[in-house]
This record gives sequence, structure tokens and C-alpha cells, in this order.
Amino acid sequence: MTAADQQRPDDRAQVLDRAHQLADEFLRSLPDRPVWPRASYDDMLGALGGPLPQHGEDPVSVVDALATAADPGLTGTPGPRFFGFVIGGALPAALAADWLTGTWDQNAGLNSVAPAAAAAEVVAGEWLIEVLGLRTESVVGFVTGGMMANYSCLSAARHAVLARAGWDVGRQGLFGAPRVRVLVGRHRHDTVDRSIRYLGLGEDSVVEVATDDQGRIDPADLDARLRAGEGPTIVCLQAGEVHTGAFDPFPETIAAAHEAGAWAHVDGAFGLWAAASPSYRHLVSGLDAADSWASDAHKTLNVPYDSGLAIVRDRAAMAAGFGVNADYLIGSAGDPVERNPEFSRRARGFAVWAALRSLGRDGLTDLVDRLCAHAGRLAEGFASIDGVEIVNDVVFTQVMIALSDDARTAELGRRLLADGTAVLTPATWHGRAVQRCAVSNWSTTEADVEATVDAVRRIVASLR
Ligand SMILES: *Cc1c(COP(=O)(O)O)cnc(C)c1O
Repeated sequence: MTAADQQRPDDRAQVLDRAHQLADEFLRSLPDRPVWPRASYDDMLGALGGPLPQHGEDPVSVVDALATAADPGLTGTPGPRFFGFVIGGALPAALAADWLTGTWDQNAGLNSVAPAAAAAEVVAGEWLIEVLGLRTESVVGFVTGGMMANYSCLSAARHAVLARAGWDVGRQGLFGAPRVRVLVGRHRHDTVDRSIRYLGLGEDSVVEVATDDQGRIDPADLDARLRAGEGPTIVCLQAGEVHTGAFDPFPETIAAAHEAGAWAHVDGAFGLWAAASPSYRHLVSGLDAADSWASDAHKTLNVPYDSGLAIVRDRAAMAAGFGVNADYLIGSAGDPVERNPEFSRRARGFAVWAALRSLGRDGLTDLVDRLCAHAGRLAEGFASIDGVEIVNDVVFTQVMIALSDDARTAELGRRLLADGTAVLTPATWHGRAVQRCAVSNWSTTEADVEATVDAVRRIVASLR
């Protein structure tokens, strides 16, 4: 079928209706389908592979064929008992807004070309800054995820700290520039290192700071290392260590960074959302004094992939890295492209706007509280199983468990995936094998928590 053959509105409606039906079937299957996929990557290459046909096919049969082939290789990540990594699901309003985003197909880079998309980002950004308790002068870049959020924030940081040293990195580049030091805790997320590489600072710029048993940065060691060096400096802190959920002590570390003339950045991919709940806000106290914050909307806020947030106080420092002045653009000051390393891109603000509007302030607080309560209940349930140890202090949404030895802990994880009730993912914590849970899906219920604890209990008993 050629593109010209696909122009009849009724035919288009038919394929969209079919996609809607298939989406509904998948969403309804989530509570009951095995959470881990039943087909392997190789199976999927087989199911989706084969030569590209010479002649096109009717859109409805294409969508049917895709859904049928993909189904066994789909993971229950948007479902209620996927506790691996830190994932998050899709709130109904956010998912629907995401469908419309694809339908509207706006190119979100410029205010003049995509006014609705650009305005949705600005409004959603203002709402976010308010609920997260950040500085109102901050600007928000809607990027793909925490990775690009860290990168975007650190791009602004690189520009600002070098500018203070009399160096314009945008014009002069890094050759011959003063060396930039990046002080960061030993338990940082890998995306911080990747960002440092992408930015041309090089891994040798990293000065590792000691962390405590929960992965929190040690303020005394940070102080000592700040004093031990000089020149342009960036300090990377963390709200929500990915294994333990621990939060760095912000007031003293940010004050020390600023006293040394450094830029203070916070990776708060999931932990920044603690600010939205009066019960957990103490964990991020003092964090508003930082210069930039990276977070994800596709984790705790439950917006579909991909949706990250790069929040920077100094609008000019961010624009210095990303601004464009191509002659063919109908650009203006304050265009989204100034806050984003991408050029043409998806209008990610609509889904974030819809998620926040569907929750409201109360709903967002309740979401954070519920995720943390489920984590607490999972920890209690696991602790009641003979032979299971809770490895971390459960302060937010992360729970780590271990059995008496590494081999048994790994076997527990494997059997749990095969069982299909729930997914935890393996990790190593202080040299010890653990299974890690992150509660980040809006649709998880107490019954899901019970079912997960029961599955772990059953498997641990079978390991005896
Ligand atoms: C998930 C995560 C990231 C990376 O975010 P992506 O959305 O996967 O790009 C960075 N830092 C922390 C602490 C995270 O949990």
C-alpha cells in the first residue's frame, strides 16, 4: 500500500480504533500477565524479522501483526508488580495525552512554530518548580530522561564555572581551558560519568568523595576535597541513591560548594519527588539552594517514556550551551530549544501537564506517600520471611533484600523472574549480591505488595 493509498479518513480511523483496542487489551492484561517477558530477544528477532516486503500492507493488518509478534516479548514494566530498576508506569491522563502528542505531531523546539507545545512545557514547568519547592527563576528543559537531564544541567554548570574563570567554553572550547573538577560521591549514578564524558571534561576530572553505608556523600570529606583543589568546580549531589533511596545531606554540602565558588547540581531522578509530600519533604530539605536539578517524569510522576526534566536556575548558562541562531528558524528569546540539547523533538510537555493536572497537588502528594508506604510494607513483609534480610534503611521507595549467601540471593531473583508474579532486579551492594525493589508505579495496590511478598516467601521456602 503506498502512502497515497492510505489517505482515506475512514481507513485511518479504522487503524487508530484497532490500535486503541489492542492498547486496551494490553493494559487490562497487566495485572495478570507474567511480569517478566516469556520470549527472548532472539525469539523477537525471529518474530519481527524477515525481509522487507516489496509491496506494502494494509495498516490494520500491520498493527495486528506488530501486536501479535511483540506481545510475548513485552515486559510488564507499566504494570503494578514490576519493581526492578526504577521504572514508573503511565497515568491514564498522561498516556492519553501522549497518544495525542503523537497525533498532533508538533515539533516542540520553537514558540512560534509550536505555540501549544511550548506553552504546555512552560506551564507544566512552573507547576513542577512550585510543587518541588525549587527557585521560581529556574527554567525547565523537557528532555528524554535522567541521563539527558544530568547532561543538560552539567552543560550549564560547565559554562558557568568556566565563565567565572574568564573562559567562554562555547567559543573557545576546552582546549587550553582551565581544568574543571567534578566532585561527586562514590555512589553516584552512572549517567553522571557519562555526562562528564559527553561534555569533554573527561573522567580524570572526577574527584570521588567518600560515602557512608547508605551511599550518602560525606560532608567532611567533601569539605576537605573542596579545600584540597582549586579552579572551576562542580559538585554533584544526589536525591535518592538508586539502591538505598538515601538522600545526601543538602544544607551543608550545598553551602560548602557555594563557599568554594562551585556549582551545586543534584541528581534527583526519582528522589526529587519527595519534595511533593509533607511526610517526606524533610529528606530534601535545603536542596532548593542548589543551582540545577535533574529529574525524571517517567519514573515517580508516571508519565510514559520518555520524559526527563533538566531544571536550571541560571537561564543564561543553559542557553549558552544550547541556543541556536540558524537563519531559517522563526526563533525568539525563550524558545524551548534554548533549554534542550535536542533540536526537532517530541512535545513532551503535554503528557507532563496532563499527569500533573489529573493528580493535582493532593494527588501528587498521595502518589508519593503511597509509593513509600508500599515500600515500607514490602520491607516489613520480606523481613517476616525466615532467612531474608533487609539490607538498606528504607527511607523512601527503595528496598534491598539478601539471603544468607550470594548464590542463594541470585537464585531467588532468577526463580522470581521465572515465576512471573513480580520483578525485582539484581545488584551488588558493598560487595554483596542483593535483589533490589523500587516502588514507582501508580497502579500498585496493597494486594500487589502481598502477592509479591508471598511469591518471595514461596521461593525462599523452596530454596531450603
Ligand atoms: C534512573 C536514574 C538516572 C537515569 O535516568 P534515565 O531516565 O534512565 O535516563 C539517573 N540518576 C538516577 C539516580 C536514576 O535513578
